[in-house]
Formats: sequence, C-alpha cells, structure tokens
Amino acid sequence: MLRSQCYPLSLNSRVLLRASAARHGSGLTFPLGSSPLPPPTASMDVRRRSLQRLSSAAAAPSVAGGARRPADALVQASDVLPLPIRYTNLLFSGVFIASLVFLMRRWREKVRSSVPLHLLGLSEILAVVGVIASLVYLISFFGIAFVQSIVSCHDEEDEFLLSAPVPGPAAAACAISLATDPICPLLYTDNAAPQKDPGVTAEDEEIISSVVAGRTPSYVLEARLGDCRRAAGIRREALRRITGRALEGLPLDGFDYASIMGQCCELPVGYVQLPVGVAGPLVLDGREHYVPMATTEGCLVASTSRGCKAIAQSGGATSVVLRDGMTRAPVVRLPSARRAAELKAFLEEPNNFETIALVFNRSSRFARLQAIKCALAGRNLYMRFSCSTGDAMGMNMVSKGVENVLGYLQNDFQDMDVISISGNFCSDKKPAAVNWIEGRGKSVVCEAIIKEEVVKKVLKTNIPALVELNMIKNLAGSAVAGSLGGFNGHASNIVSAIYIATGQDPAQNVESSHCITMMEAVNGGKDLHVSVTMPSIEVGTVGGGTQLASQAACLDLLSVKGASLESPGANARLLAAIVAGAVLAGELSLLSALAAGQLVQSHMKYNRSAKISPKLPPE
Ligand code: ADP
Repeated sequence: MLRSQCYPLSLNSRVLLRASAARHGSGLTFPLGSSPLPPPTASMDVRRRSLQRLSSAAAAPSVAGGARRPADALVQASDVLPLPIRYTNLLFSGVFIASLVFLMRRWREKVRSSVPLHLLGLSEILAVVGVIASLVYLISFFGIAFVQSIVSCHDEEDEFLLSAPVPGPAAAACAISLATDPICPLLYTDNAAPQKDPGVTAEDEEIISSVVAGRTPSYVLEARLGDCRRAAGIRREALRRITGRALEGLPLDGFDYASIMGQCCELPVGYVQLPVGVAGPLVLDGREHYVPMATTEGCLVASTSRGCKAIAQSGGATSVVLRDGMTRAPVVRLPSARRAAELKAFLEEPNNFETIALVFNRSSRFARLQAIKCALAGRNLYMRFSCSTGDAMGMNMVSKGVENVLGYLQNDFQDMDVISISGNFCSDKKPAAVNWIEGRGKSVVCEAIIKEEVVKKVLKTNIPALVELNMIKNLAGSAVAGSLGGFNGHASNIVSAIYIATGQDPAQNVESSHCITMMEAVNGGKDLHVSVTMPSIEVGTVGGGTQLASQAACLDLLSVKGASLESPGANARLLAAIVAGAVLAGELSLLSALAAGQLVQSHMKYNRSAKISPKLPPE
C-alpha cells in the first residue's frame, strides 16, 4: 500500500540527490532504523533520502514562523559561486548592461567617424566578452528555471517541499517525523494510517519503536526514563501506532503523572476530564457545606441543590455516625470442620481479643481492631476483622493488620491453610447482606424536618404525596424487586458524584450507596420527617486518590482535606456525614419531582438542551 503511494522520482531530483550524496560523501544508503514498517522498494528508498533532506531543511531554524532550508540542504549550480546568488545576479546584470552601453556608444562613434565596425580595440573585445558571458549566465539562471517549472511538475512539488516556508508547528511536525522515521507522513493518503505525534523527538522515536515492536515493556517506561510525563507520552504514541486510534480528545498535558505513580494508576496515557458542579449550601449539623459533584448526568447537581435549599429553609439537617470500622475477611482452610470451629471459638473468646488486637494494631498507629466476626462453610473459616482506620478509608491498613494476625495464628494452628487474604465476607465492592446489616466503613443516619410551606414552595409538592410515594416506591417497590440495601430513589447518583470529585474509590459505590429512605408526616401532618440510613459509607481523606490535586481541592472545599490533626478520623467521618446529607437532599428532590410528575419533563430539559435552569431532578 505504501509503495504504491510513492511519488516517482524526477530527473531533477535524481541529479540533486546525486550531487547531494557526493557532496556529503554519504552515498545512497539510508538507515531504516528499527521501524516496524515493511522494507521499502528502491524507489521509495531514494524518495526517502530526498525527504530526509527535506526533514533537515524543515528542521532548520525557522524565521518568521517558517522553516528555512539550510545552505547544504540542496545542491544547486549557484552553490559553487563565490558570492551569494543575489549578488552574482546583480553583478552579471551590471556587467551585461555596462558592456552593452559601452559597445553601443563605441559603435555610434565609429559610424559617425566612418571607422569599420569589425575593427575592435581591447576595451571593445572585453565588452563583447562581458555581454556574451553575462548573457549566458542570465539565460541559464532564469531560462532553465522557467523551462523546468513547465516541464517538471514533480520537481516543482519537490522544490515546494524543500524550500517553501511551512507554518511553524506543521513544519516542526513534519521535520521531526521525517528526521526520525524513514516514512514521511506526507506519503500516507490513507486516513487510517498512523500519523506521528508532533512532539516526538528522535530519542523518543527509538523507544516508541521498541515498545511497538514488543522489545521494551510499556510498564518499565517510568522507571527507566525517570520522567513520568515523557513515559506517558511515549506509551500513548506507541498505543496510537498499534491501534491506529488517534486518542484525540484525551488530554495528555496538564496532569501530574508523578502524583499517581505507585498509588493511583499504572500505564497512563492521558486523563479523562469530568465536570465538577457544586450543590448547596448543605446545612448540616449547624454548618454550611458546598458539595462538589463530578458527574455527566444532567439534572443531578441542580436537583441536589434544590434538596439542599429545602433543607436549609427548614433549619438544616442533623447526622449521627453510628459506627466507624473498615473490614477485611480472610478465608483459611483447616483439615476438618471441627478444627475450623476450634479456631472460630479461639477468635471469639473475649480473653484472646486483647492479644489479637495487639498483634493487629501493629500495622498502623491508626488501626484499632474492633471486632472479629466468624462464619464457617464446611472446613473453611471466614474471619471478618473490623477496625477503625483514622482518616484513611482503610483497606490497606486493615489488610496489613489481618496479615499480622494470620502470622500469629499460624503458630498455634499450624494446620491452618491461608486460602486468601480476602474471602469475600468483607465484603468489598460487591452487593452483600453482611454490609447492609453489619455495616462497613461509616454507618450514618441523617435526618431533617421539612416545613410544609417549603415542601410546597421549593419542592412543588405536598407531604401526603411524598409519604405515600416513598412507601410505595422506596419500601414496597424495592421489596418487590428483592433489593439489597436499595430502599431509596437514587442514593448512588450522589454517592458516585461526590466519590469521584473527592478521590474516593468509585467502585465502593456498590455498598456505600446502600440506603433506606424514610418519610413520614409529623407535627400533626404539618411537617415532613425525612431520613436516610446508610450503613456502609466507605470514605477517607488521606491515601489513594485523595492526594491528587483536583480531588484534594474538592476535599478542601469541604474543609476535610488530609488528616485531622485534632482527632484522627474526624475528617473522614465528617465527609461521610456530608455524603449522607447530600443523599438526603437528593432523595427529597427526586421524590418531590416524581410526586409532582416532573421527572421526564426535567430530564428532557436538562439532558437534551444546551440551556440550563436550576429546577430539574434526575433519577
Ligand atoms: P487506605 O488504607 O485507605 O488504603 P493508605 O494506607 O493508602 O489508605 O493511607 C493511609 C496512610 O496515611 C497510612 O500510611 C497512614 O499512616 C497515613 N495517615 C496519616 N494520617 C492519618 C490519619 N489521620 N488517619 C489515617 N491514616 C493516616
């Protein structure tokens, strides 16, 4: 395919090439490097050499935005002249005119004095030589170029490529591509053919080729180069060549790749941009919070904000963190079910707890073992360790503590076979009744009493309609569906958006969104009591994605960035309470929209329109 797209080589090009090769003493060989592309034909080889000179021409320092050809890029007759071409032209033109004027005057004098014209003096002979020589020069210079321009259109193309100033970035792109790869992108007419990244340097080109060819594993780039941005760029370019996909729209620059090394993401090739909206103020426990939400779902932020407004106008919400403990449940196998039961009894014996906790807590100054809950399946024992983890979400911390305890148990239970550090009784990132019933992370309840006039004015519905809808949809409807922790309208919408904005693990949305929403009329039917109970909000303000710049900024907006200095764990607990408060707002707004029959209307307006108006709730 590529061969057929080669331009034929013109006579002029060949002459120029030979001259160039002779001049540079390089012969006609051109190193193909380690390009994965097929070997070229002879004609392509020559063409490449021509283009290689083009590359050096384009790579020369540019003036006024254009790439200039260096003096030795192309051999011309004028190259042998002692003077620059412009001055040589001026000189010969001057000689021609001066000689001609001199001869004309002499001839006029000879005619007047009747002297024969063919009798020439030395000065006249010199003038004739001057006229002839300058005529020859001027005809060769201007005439040949004119004839060539008509005869050879390809030469014209070559000349254009070789000498025309190219706009800066395009010139650089082409120059770099040509200088580093024998196949110029200009040769491709197939749109699917890989084009070079304009930013690729010669040194990077070698590495890219090696990654593409499989000689260098992509995952070693950061360590070998010691430059995370460069590694990501090289990996991305290799990916682009392998897949033929340009990745346009996926930004590469503007991100600190060093900040994710060994912690957040491997093999980076860019980053995804997400809009962050702010809902609020959420008035919770007497404080105002502006809640950042990263989402692409229209209506969501606007709807949550409407709920916040209803809560604020009713005096605010209150929250209680009922429990705070992350869990990890390894599974071990013993020779018999009886032996597994013996280990269970050992772990549940209150007298042993202190020793086990001592061993467990060595993992971190913030890890404090709270409980061990055991379950058997035949001779397999599942031990669900629960511990407080300070301001960290705590998965790493609890896992280290569990490892310590398993090592300790092995001394007394040498027939214990550790199957896995996680036996799914934890249970992480999967729907599980154990989290719904026992809780995982922070268990939070959040409530508010919404005044009747606020229900009418802000939520555009009435209390009996809300109470009935909540009962039939969130309670009975979810029971009919056999739901596990899904007794709510759209808790996961709010949880996911806040998790992404604040650097939480979005996969933990599964259990973190467990929520039961309750609504009842109080104060003689004049007000609405609304609550959300969420047993498994798994959040942290240190570790993981929380340390990245954007996410840390969102945590800072909530005043929960990093570790709490006064009371370790206070920041993470406050974040969990805010999540529950925002869910409360979201539930109020969604249920109200449904009760008022506004949902479809709102989605049509927010999801299908470029215009924005802040009254529309999603599910
Ligand atoms: P996780 O356990 O959530 O995966 P990491 O283990 O990645 O979190 O991060 C927790 C780290 O932060 C630990 O090294 C811990 O010592 C440190 N740290 C500093 N201050 C606190 C704090 N207030 N609460 C919890 N961890 C903290």
